[in-house]
Amino acid sequence: MVPNRDTDPIEWRIHAMCERVNGAQQAGYYYYNIPINELRGGAKVLVDGREMSMFASYSYLGLIGHPRINAAARKAIDDFGTGTHGVRTLAGTLILHREMEETIAEFEGMEDTITFSSGYVTNLTTISTLVGRHDYVFSDKLNHASIVDGCLMAGAKFIRFRHNDMEELDMRLGEAPSQVAKLVVCDAVFSMDGDIINLPSVVELCKKHDAWLMIDEAHSIGVLGETGKGIEEHFGIEGAVDIKMGTLSKTIPSVGGYIAGSADMIKYLRHQSRAYIFSAALPPAQVAAAMEAFHVIRDEPWRVEKLRENTDLFIKGLQSRGFDTMRTETAIVPLLCGTDEKAFEMTRGIHERDVFVLPVISPAVPEGLARLRTTVTAGHEPEEIERVMDIFEQVGKNVGIL
Ligand SMILES: *Cc1c(COP(=O)(O)O)cnc(C)c1O
Repeated sequence: MVPNRDTDPIEWRIHAMCERVNGAQQAGYYYYNIPINELRGGAKVLVDGREMSMFASYSYLGLIGHPRINAAARKAIDDFGTGTHGVRTLAGTLILHREMEETIAEFEGMEDTITFSSGYVTNLTTISTLVGRHDYVFSDKLNHASIVDGCLMAGAKFIRFRHNDMEELDMRLGEAPSQVAKLVVCDAVFSMDGDIINLPSVVELCKKHDAWLMIDEAHSIGVLGETGKGIEEHFGIEGAVDIKMGTLSKTIPSVGGYIAGSADMIKYLRHQSRAYIFSAALPPAQVAAAMEAFHVIRDEPWRVEKLRENTDLFIKGLQSRGFDTMRTETAIVPLLCGTDEKAFEMTRGIHERDVFVLPVISPAVPEGLARLRTTVTAGHEPEEIERVMDIFEQVGKNVGIL
């Protein structure tokens, strides 16, 4: 029985979502929450007894399962156990936390770093701790949900500007009263499209309008810049960003999020952020793994180089096969399919050939712009990339998007 929307809206919402999910599952178009049974090297996974090529991973440098990182995590369990004694502020801080934060600060070229239990929480708490009701926050329309939620939670005047549109950002900043605090927040690499923020212009506009600048480097650490240090290195403008946010769950194969910035700002967050004060510390194994990953990036620079070569091969190869890869310049490579249906058909055909990809449909992206959101990593070999691109081409022709 369909619940009554007016008398029980909660039950109605639950029912409506379950209908949608069940419908997709029955039609054989449900590709979310698929359990992986086993890791098979850098770029293969075992799913339901089948070995699949992974082309949907955020592990951009292929670091999941790296022996040094695994060993660091095991040692941390031996030394400290699997949990902490509570929140960081009270008994939860380990020497490992401080060593990790110093390692990240050095990597980022900032004075200090603070870490939180996830990247999502990092954006939520940092934005809402730094700005409040009488302030203005400016956010690119394609920014990640965690930034949007942080802005909403802050209760500040929330101004969204058209994606990467510097003229509009200039105008919006100019419209704000001069005596209010202003914060501009942008993704470095946009997570659905793979394109890069025009950082030099954003920096200039922040100077012109006396605004703080926060950049989310979730998809740029290990990906952009000669040594994988991210967007400042990419543009050669080190020291331009006030607040650098990153996650420990993508290129870094662990969990958690961080903010790198001035020592005073970090001290302020450590004593004012509710997510830091009222939520548990990251566990020892994950901290040790994260720290070791930064060391591996430094010691194995070939990974960043290989990712760059693989990205180039992948984007050019897909374009020459006739795919629309939209505006990507990075390891996130969308394959435009059009309707949600087409994206599902593409996914099914590709999964049948043992390649793991995922469709992104509305409302995550605008209607008519449904896509496969593929990723390439340093864990792939060029021959494997060629083989998979041939599969994409074959399926693309079968379903009629090529
Ligand atoms: C993944 C992601 C986050 C959230 O990070 P988690 O560590 O997964 O919570 C934040 N911002 C962007 C741009 C992301 O892609």
